[in-house]
Amino acid sequence: MQIAKTVQDLRLLLDNCTKNIGFVPTMGALHAGHLRLIDVAKSKTELVVCSIFVNPLQFNNADDLAKYPITLEQDIALLTSHGCDILFIPTTEEMYKKKTTLEINFSYQNSVMEGLHRPGHFNGVAVVVSKLFHYVQPKIAFFGQKDLQQCLIISQLVDSLSFPVAIEIVPTVREKDGLAMSSRNVRLSAEARKIAPILYQNLEILAANLQQFITTKNECLKQLTINSSLEVSYIQAIDMHTGLVVENFEKGKKYGLCIAATIDNVRLIDNVITVY
Ligand code: AMP
Repeated sequence: MQIAKTVQDLRLLLDNCTKNIGFVPTMGALHAGHLRLIDVAKSKTELVVCSIFVNPLQFNNADDLAKYPITLEQDIALLTSHGCDILFIPTTEEMYKKKTTLEINFSYQNSVMEGLHRPGHFNGVAVVVSKLFHYVQPKIAFFGQKDLQQCLIISQLVDSLSFPVAIEIVPTVREKDGLAMSSRNVRLSAEARKIAPILYQNLEILAANLQQFITTKNECLKQLTINSSLEVSYIQAIDMHTGLVVENFEKGKKYGLCIAATIDNVRLIDNVITVY
């Protein structure tokens, strides 16, 4: 695997490349979820580029940014063993040579779920992903279903600004007990780690009871708040076609059931996609 630390180095590696490039943007602290994206990219494209960049612009919480895990040596070993071709690891100075005041506003998506609870987050994601798309020029970019609303805003970004990039969504990789893999899971205390799979369990209950969504959601919220160390931000259903939050469902249509909760100061999100 070749490693580029600057945009110039990356372009030197890619400028004469005629292969179809697959791109996996990450913030590092890699786990089996990220590696699944690399494996899928390997199977669908001819040259796989991964980026590791903890993007300050997308953190609305300074403590979350300061505590974000960094495991670069281990990440390099994992990417090498999964056949990643190029790793791009820019510094913050490299990515933001000039301070940008540009704001990308996703209107409706900014008013629901992560958009509502993490002001500025999607703007930060959109700015960094746009820059990375320009630097890497991938044919296909791979994103995890785990960040479902992020997948929606990236698709909106690509459509609205006509990026010549196809977006591929890869299903969530989970621990044996159902907890969605996340770089933030290492920050969970032993006690919080035991509680955390309850998020996925409740999503499964909701998926099985979509015909009584409101009642089931209220029961889930009641059950979840029995744990004093757990605070639910939201439970919402979105129409996968329109991206709108809904409470009524139509037969045969696809819905994303999404949850966000903080356990012992660690914010976790998860979702399942189901057909009604
Ligand atoms: P992050 O490093 O958290 O920014 O994630 C980088 C990419 O990996 C994003 O597209 C995430 O949605 C994806 N990802 C994170 N966790 C998982 C998981 N458990 N399964 C599949 N993809 C994931």
